[in-house]
Amino acid sequence: MAIGRRTFTGGIAASLAAAKLGFVPGAAEAATRSYRGPNVVIVRFGGGVRRRETVDPEHSFAPFLRHTLTKRGVLIPDVRIAEIDGMDTSHAEGTINILTGRYAAWRDAGSTGLTRKIVPAAPTLFEYFRKAFVVPAHQSLLINGEDRPQEEFYSFGTHRHFGVAYRSEVLSLYRYKIWNLGRKLARRDGSDEDLVAASKKLAELKEFELFGHEHVPSEEIEKFWSGWRSEFGDSGLVNQRGDRLLTQLALRAMKELRPRLMMINYQDPDYVHWGNASHYTRAIAIIDDGLRQLVSAADTSDHYRGRTVFVILPDCGRDANPLMDVPFQHHFNTRSAHEIWALILGPGIEKGRTLDKVQDQSMIAPTVGAVMGFRTGQAETGPISEIFS
Ligand SMILES: [Zn+2]
Repeated sequence: MAIGRRTFTGGIAASLAAAKLGFVPGAAEAATRSYRGPNVVIVRFGGGVRRRETVDPEHSFAPFLRHTLTKRGVLIPDVRIAEIDGMDTSHAEGTINILTGRYAAWRDAGSTGLTRKIVPAAPTLFEYFRKAFVVPAHQSLLINGEDRPQEEFYSFGTHRHFGVAYRSEVLSLYRYKIWNLGRKLARRDGSDEDLVAASKKLAELKEFELFGHEHVPSEEIEKFWSGWRSEFGDSGLVNQRGDRLLTQLALRAMKELRPRLMMINYQDPDYVHWGNASHYTRAIAIIDDGLRQLVSAADTSDHYRGRTVFVILPDCGRDANPLMDVPFQHHFNTRSAHEIWALILGPGIEKGRTLDKVQDQSMIAPTVGAVMGFRTGQAETGPISEIFS
């Protein structure tokens, strides 16, 4: 497997070749096998973090991750994001790579102005999983941040043999607001003035939907939001905010929806773009506390205890150059923006081991496939086989 500078040509040539073969769009083939393997929770330690503030034992702001959780799995301190000409080291790119095992596996699905609509062009883990096994969408689940509606699009890709029929469900404050406004309008719950305002707000939120793929929540998700509303109401002021909200959504989902595959897209360390280093280190500590709660919930639940693999890694690194006017950026292709890590733990994985070999971010999707028992045929590489006990 090549690690280092690459170009787009291989991928483009391969997809052109596939197009020329004249594959017809596949109809949704129904899986027949039920899933009996381990649950997998992918934690995107996201918004871009450096090794120094996370897995470096001397400087970590994530003590649970670094000092407790590493004893339960394999820490891979040197995972890299390949350098590819013309590709940015950023959140969408890294997340889609984690989900597909392919670099540059994304397409612009009609971005306008500030609304960025980047969709995976290769199948996501959710699609591989649901195509291989009989699993309802709410058990193949994406948990997203409230102010990143662009991440709603990671729930399925445009690959002709996969796609929307195998999508994940998504939980986020954005989804809740859409659900709640729809509910208000359907029940005509409010004055005429209220309803006009609600309808306007709903139209604004739906600007972020993919054309032709407006999301219709399943019965289980309807029930989930209905319970959420009874507890937290309409104001958005009672529930947690930021990355603490993602933990809250994930914990509730583990109780009520019991996802077999769940990805949590933490994001708040990214607020450091505006220059305040303490926002960054505090955000790392908040994700670390989220991890503590998620692992504890798994350890005390009949459904998750002893049968859950956690896969934890950043979407991208951040710059290490202390001379920058605004430090901790990640868009300039510096070496440390390509330097990440991973921690993988759970049944079937070695314990308390450090794997001191360079691995590549694109190996994560095939590794999840190996844990769950499906092939990630479109991924660029194979799994990190040395972690398995
Ligand atoms: Zn960023």
